[in-house]
Amino acid sequence: MPFIDTIEKVDWDSVTHDIYSRTPSDVERALCNAGSGNIQDFMALVSPAAAPYLEQMAQLSHGLTQKRFGKTMQLYIPLYLSNACCNSCAYCGFSHKNQLKRRTLSFDQILEEAHAIKRTGFEHLLLVTGEYPKEAGFEYLLKAVELLRPHFSQISIEVQPMGAQEYAALSANGLNTVYVYQETYNRETYPTYHPTGPKGDYAYRLETPERIGKAQVHRVGLGVLLGLEDWRVDSTYLAMHLRYLQKNYWKTKYSVAFPRLRPHTGNFQPNFPVSDRELIQLITAYRIFDENVELALSTRESVRFRNNAYKLGITSMSAGSKTEPGGYANERKDLEQFHISDGRTPQEVADYLRNDGYEPVWKDWDKVLQ
Ligand code: SF4
Repeated sequence: MPFIDTIEKVDWDSVTHDIYSRTPSDVERALCNAGSGNIQDFMALVSPAAAPYLEQMAQLSHGLTQKRFGKTMQLYIPLYLSNACCNSCAYCGFSHKNQLKRRTLSFDQILEEAHAIKRTGFEHLLLVTGEYPKEAGFEYLLKAVELLRPHFSQISIEVQPMGAQEYAALSANGLNTVYVYQETYNRETYPTYHPTGPKGDYAYRLETPERIGKAQVHRVGLGVLLGLEDWRVDSTYLAMHLRYLQKNYWKTKYSVAFPRLRPHTGNFQPNFPVSDRELIQLITAYRIFDENVELALSTRESVRFRNNAYKLGITSMSAGSKTEPGGYANERKDLEQFHISDGRTPQEVADYLRNDGYEPVWKDWDKVLQ
């Protein structure tokens, strides 16, 4: 049964009620059941009842992460190929409704960016576009992956959803990971955030990880945009989605990211702001729920937050990010998607990790190992 049929039977208000009814004994049981992958336990861990247990959750999550991943941190860098977009997501600087200069990199410009990035030591590249298939569609992405593959050991994409055949072709040409965030699982409010353009098709987006699984792509990255809807409820739906995918597409690896809304061009304000303590609760809840899932934290977060949070469950971090196309070779703030918060250079991030006893990992995967 497709995941959409499963969650259509799960009522948003009932899940909300279940989470807010959890008790301290439910939380204590969830802490004892660490690694169970049980959704009832996850609901307890993200509930308000778990707030007084944050220190315990942090220690447990830290220990589980070190046991499974050691003292390592994968580092990756996003490369924005295009800021053109035919959607009008209410929360995004790239919305076609925003007055913004648009740019799609030529293949020569992509290589120029790649050389600038390569000098900083990265081996894991995340290619990002808006959704504008006329300029940055499947053929363009395929060519970009082919062009960059000889220079990087790991290439990921965060672009418009595609068909299983397209994912399979990209994977055959060296693609490692596809990140596709549902933004919110709340079907009722989803259209208010995505009023025009193909991203308004809730079902097609929700079914994308299944198409990626069918195409046997190495890894899928999931996430909700923190700040749109109640993070406790949205994250519970994401946990259900993760479990469904793990059971049905067990050859694929999974990661979860924690994008929190950041200032950008336009004036969208988070409906449900997520505090630092709540974000720590969420990160540690995922780790206690699933010992193996990879957890990612981007430069959307501040230096202070990242330095404190990364040891509590995170396994990969971006560093030195620019969110505008062409930003590594020639910085252009007027083209960016959002303002990053951690502006340290990649070397500064790596030095911090080393001084803290962690090993920054630039390369952790090679096609020959698949
Ligand atoms: S979130 Fe993505 S799809 Fe939506 S406007 Fe921004 S770039 Fe376009």
